[in-house]
Amino acid sequence: MKKGKNQLIDSFGRVARKLRLSVIDRCNFRCNFCMPITPAWMPRQELLSYEEIVRVTRILTSLGIEKVKITGGEPLLRKDIDKLIELLAQIRGINSLSMTTNGYFLMDMAWKLKKAGLGGITLSLHSLKEEKYEKIVGRSGVFERVLKGLEEAKKAEFNPLKINVVITRGCNDNEILDFVELARQSGLIVRFIEYMPFDGRNIWNKKLVVKGEEIISLIKSKYELVKEDRNAGDTAVNFRFTDGTPGGIGIITSMSSPFCKDCDRIRITADGKLVPCLFSDKTYDLKSIIRSNATDEEVANYILASFKKKFRGVETLVNKDIKNVRPMYTVGG
Ligand code: SAM
Ligand code: SF4
Repeated sequence: MKKGKNQLIDSFGRVARKLRLSVIDRCNFRCNFCMPITPAWMPRQELLSYEEIVRVTRILTSLGIEKVKITGGEPLLRKDIDKLIELLAQIRGINSLSMTTNGYFLMDMAWKLKKAGLGGITLSLHSLKEEKYEKIVGRSGVFERVLKGLEEAKKAEFNPLKINVVITRGCNDNEILDFVELARQSGLIVRFIEYMPFDGRNIWNKKLVVKGEEIISLIKSKYELVKEDRNAGDTAVNFRFTDGTPGGIGIITSMSSPFCKDCDRIRITADGKLVPCLFSDKTYDLKSIIRSNATDEEVANYILASFKKKFRGVETLVNKDIKNVRPMYTVGG
């Protein structure tokens, strides 16, 4: 699509095409790289209603948004989430509707979500060892259930179906090759994510980040990989196996080699704040505009003006002062 007057274009000429839509900040897990031990949840009345979410998404599609990823917190905790998916799936202009989930509720929800019109699922799975997994997510007795959820998602044939693994040095970096085996055996895409400074406990530090290049060179010591062409705006660099085994690997190098230059994302928090860049503490209070009886045109103009001010990104901060802007659960990744 060409750049046009009614498109979301920032002052660096970047055009937004993807929306990360957080529908809830609450979560049943307490992943140590994301959540404080005792989170302060957003008051329920502050969350955008489904009607408000659908309206904003519709307005965003008129401004060029084509792909929507539902996130949280844990999005499957939001009541009747399948109803929201059904409504979003009907919006003209959306060509991709997916969700990122911790997988705990997938066992019961996978088919419902599929039927409602959800296309892709990304399931976060940070260890293949029960004890370690449960230590990372801060909950016991959940590992088996998440694996069952993954099986159910496979049966329901979500496409794409991906696994996200946040790699932290000294914790799960010794499982990288096990995850590669999982990709090869299951045919799924496993994406390794560099640990970003968005934990709620202030435990992030540079030394805990395992760089993408280190991950790839470890994998290449055992498997031959071929790099796939990267589409502008993609967060991941993807690889497949040269021996033709299905499945693939993705590397998300948000810290060591961010793709700020062609970033095409915009985020909305569950309480209706517009977040043009994860690494900036600037947010724009979209909910107040929506709840002030503004017309669609006025809402669109507010979004266009806010997006114009989008920050250049973490790229400009490399080796400078990278601060912990906000815990990840409040914005959704
Ligand atoms: N609860 C869902 C989940 O865990 O998949 C969705 C929300 S979660 C905030 C979205 C993604 O962000 C997950 O894949 C999660 O692993 C990732 N994430 C959370 N904290 C992170 C951090 N500090 N650095 C990198 N990725 C992080
Ligand atoms: Fe919950 Fe997802 Fe954050 Fe883990 S990463 S605490 S599952 S929101």
